[in-house]
Amino acid sequence: MTQAALTIPVQSELAEAVFRESGENVNLCYQCSKCAAGCPVSYAMDYTPVQVIHAIRLGLEDLIFGSKTMWLCASCETCTTRCPQEIDIARVMDAVKIIALRRGVRPAVPRVASFYKAALANIRSFGRMFELGTIMYLKLRTLDLFKDAGLGIKMFRKGKLKLFPSFTGARTTRRIFRRVKKLEKESTGT
Ligand code: SF4
Ligand code: SF4
Repeated sequence: MTQAALTIPVQSELAEAVFRESGENVNLCYQCSKCAAGCPVSYAMDYTPVQVIHAIRLGLEDLIFGSKTMWLCASCETCTTRCPQEIDIARVMDAVKIIALRRGVRPAVPRVASFYKAALANIRSFGRMFELGTIMYLKLRTLDLFKDAGLGIKMFRKGKLKLFPSFTGARTTRRIFRRVKKLEKESTGT
């Protein structure tokens, strides 16, 4: 056994954190690569899903938190349905994102993180997705004001972008957000 092998934790702290967050045990993985083979976004990722799972098991935190993979994951769940060990890999990807944000790690693909924040703020305010509001929020956050402006105009002309939000269900949605916040505080003890 090499010195390196001796220093690699078998049950890493990161694997435990992922388990606490998602209920998924990455140590069940036997590296068959079915998840990576079916992932429609793996061509754009710096590490494939199977590599991410392995890195979590080894506790390679710098690699995981510096990786673009979890931010590019489309949550399509192809990997999850293919895994013979029934590991919900999409959920693991979400768990890693949550842990990264909680630890103050800068997202490797900031635009995706900004989109999540914009979408959530929008749904919290209006009860459902108000696309124009999300786009405006995102543009202001990224200061990327004119990219895709032509596409936006086309969507507006075809009636795909509404000028005003509907507020349907806004009160219920706000209640759900408050409840989730409370549960999060209870689970993290903050
Ligand atoms: S499909 Fe499941 S068992 Fe196979 S490599 Fe991916 S996570 Fe591991
Ligand atoms: S859920 Fe994410 S990692 Fe899994 S196949 Fe879809 S894009 Fe790839």
